[in-house]
Amino acid sequence: PTPPTLTPIAVAPGDGIGPELMAATLRVLEAAGARIEPRPVEVGQEVYLRGVSSGVAPEAWEELRRTGVLLKGPITTPQGGGYKSVNVTLRKALGLYANVRPARAYAPFVATHHPGMDLVIVRENEEDLYAGIEHRQTDEVYQCLKLVTREGCERVVRYAFEYARAHGRRKVTAMSKDNIMKLTDGLFHRVFDEVAREYPEITADHLIVDIGAARLGAQPERFDVIVTLNLYGDILSDIASEVAGSVGLGGSANIGQSVALFEAVHGSAPDIAGQDKANPSGLLNAAALMLTHIGQGDVAARVLNAWLRTLEDGIHTGDIAGEHTARRVGTQAFADAVIER
Ligand code: NAD
Repeated sequence: PTPPTLTPIAVAPGDGIGPELMAATLRVLEAAGARIEPRPVEVGQEVYLRGVSSGVAPEAWEELRRTGVLLKGPITTPQGGGYKSVNVTLRKALGLYANVRPARAYAPFVATHHPGMDLVIVRENEEDLYAGIEHRQTDEVYQCLKLVTREGCERVVRYAFEYARAHGRRKVTAMSKDNIMKLTDGLFHRVFDEVAREYPEITADHLIVDIGAARLGAQPERFDVIVTLNLYGDILSDIASEVAGSVGLGGSANIGQSVALFEAVHGSAPDIAGQDKANPSGLLNAAALMLTHIGQGDVAARVLNAWLRTLEDGIHTGDIAGEHTARRVGTQAFADAVIER
């Protein structure tokens, strides 16, 4: 038989717990038969401490554009002036316009009050109050401008509907505050209504974001896909992961025209770095999203099934609460358990 074609992917292990998690994740991917060729790139703390303020090594950009896919560990964001968040730099420079964060319950294996919840938040990732247009008018008056474009709205809304169609989801809910911000949020709502008409098989509705957030907290099982502006999406997706009981388990995809970046939802956890304690599940879920993105859904399913079976067997890292724990293990032993399954 001819050997399978390998898809090159850029891999940045990241800072803190990142390298341990990446090692565990790549071992699982290899065991699952992922047809990938990992190409290491330098992104993160070491790079900016070397004086490259973006935190991204110059050669890394070329590799990112060539492979079009980055699997990334968490990056420690330098505190204080002079440095921008590496994550924000990557999103802007690579045009990663949609941030996709699934949030689902794994009851009863991970404790949650909402066992039926299974939703995906698609967040606009470049505009809104994150455009970074802030200035001081006087010592006592500061201003931050909210930037919303038709193109930005249309891209993210269309992505949400295409995602729903591709993944067999039936409803897309937009959230905005267009009763108050009639121009910016109004544009988002208007574009949502326009694009929704092109997807008659998918139910489309809209909620004002405050009542939307309240419902998300109280009845998350009512939602399927949620599409929203950058700041609302940032807040809503943390609420959703918390309610699912799985903050440490979530993976996310940052989608652009020609590059996509996959990472865990959590940060670099310097408090437990180098101790073989961290849960690799967030990065593993991100890697599964990546495999689906590059057309290896078969491998993604194998990885996810083995991972779910590990949870069902009560094998957990120390961060997971629940009565269904048979064995507490470290990072690498957890990966071994997934590989066995
Ligand atoms: P954090 O997510 O790193 O840690 C919060 C708490 O959760 C800590 O107690 C940590 O031990 C625990 N935790 C996180 N991930 C875990 C895992 N996989 N397994 C077990 N426990 C885990 O958040 P923080 O402390 O606010 O941030 C630390 C650093 O990470 C900061 O420099 C921040 O800027 C950065 N950060 C990076 C990203 C990213 O790269 N995408 C995201 C968030 C935060």
